[in-house]
Amino acid sequence: MWNVIGHPWAVEFLQRSLREGRLAHAYLLLGPAQIGKRTLALELAKALNCLAGEEERPCGECLACRKIAHSTHPDVRVVEPENRSLKIDQIRQLQREVALTPHEGRYRVAILPSFERATTEASNCLLKTLEEPPPQVVMCLTAPDTSPLLPTIVSRCQLLHLRPLSLEAVESALVERWGVEQERAALLARLSGGRLGWAVEAYQQPSILEHRTSCLDSLVKLLNEPRVPRFAYAEKISQTPEVVSDTLEVWLSCWRDLLLVHEGNGKEITNLDREEEITTYAARYSLGRIYRALQAIRTAQQQLESNANLRLTLEVLLLSFPLAGEPCCLSWPGSGPGLRNGRKWVPL
Ligand SMILES: [Zn+2]
Repeated sequence: MWNVIGHPWAVEFLQRSLREGRLAHAYLLLGPAQIGKRTLALELAKALNCLAGEEERPCGECLACRKIAHSTHPDVRVVEPENRSLKIDQIRQLQREVALTPHEGRYRVAILPSFERATTEASNCLLKTLEEPPPQVVMCLTAPDTSPLLPTIVSRCQLLHLRPLSLEAVESALVERWGVEQERAALLARLSGGRLGWAVEAYQQPSILEHRTSCLDSLVKLLNEPRVPRFAYAEKISQTPEVVSDTLEVWLSCWRDLLLVHEGNGKEITNLDREEEITTYAARYSLGRIYRALQAIRTAQQQLESNANLRLTLEVLLLSFPLAGEPCCLSWPGSGPGLRNGRKWVPL
């Protein structure tokens, strides 16, 4: 019984390959972070080395399955990037190991998560193993998509494209397996965007949701502040670069929610617990203004990925958000003159 939530077709595909003896030497599991790629790879490792009868593999209970779950099986290795990159020495070490016959299992399984972080030298080095795979070796690479990988690596792997789970699947898994209370499970499912691993982590580590709350609070505060405090915020947050990308993601989700409310799809918003504020702010800004804020965040994200100056990028971003009292706001009947210097302001 494969202990995988979601991805039924991928499980079915691997089961069939095992049953029919058509196992690939290397699999490349693709999809967004924390949707279960590593879990699926570990379940495959269990299925390959489980001690139970063929029909029951992976049983999850035998010594081999338990060792794999506890990362103590001598034939199953997970090679993580070190200091954000997977290096050639790590691959060489792995190659020495997989050249040997399995120690106690049927297969040696090498799991290489986040292979997009492999250096070019490491990728080229692994290529040799993929070109001439030793018998009884199965490799499982994971990456968000194929674009950062060498085409020669991709072409030698069996690709499995995994997709985020439905929000309902995440919600019910949280309730049934992790005992999360319903309302919280619904919120976590929305925030996860179908990434069960993220939802479980956010449930187990309250600091993740606390950080999100503080990002939302900052955004609301900044939208009501003039330029100077915005510059001060840009300076402050640029001193903790590790939180910037999460902050921008939270802001993006918030502006996306404003857009949904504008379009009459308020039921689909991500930030369920902030519905009231989102409705208020959606009424305050025109559709064009919301689009521009979304675009500005995406531009900032791209610039930061190409190592742009952090503080400058954040300053530009924060200045592109509407300022309170700016003529970009919708004028509601009775809420203001709608006229300034004799001109009627129209939503931009
Ligand atoms: Zn087993």
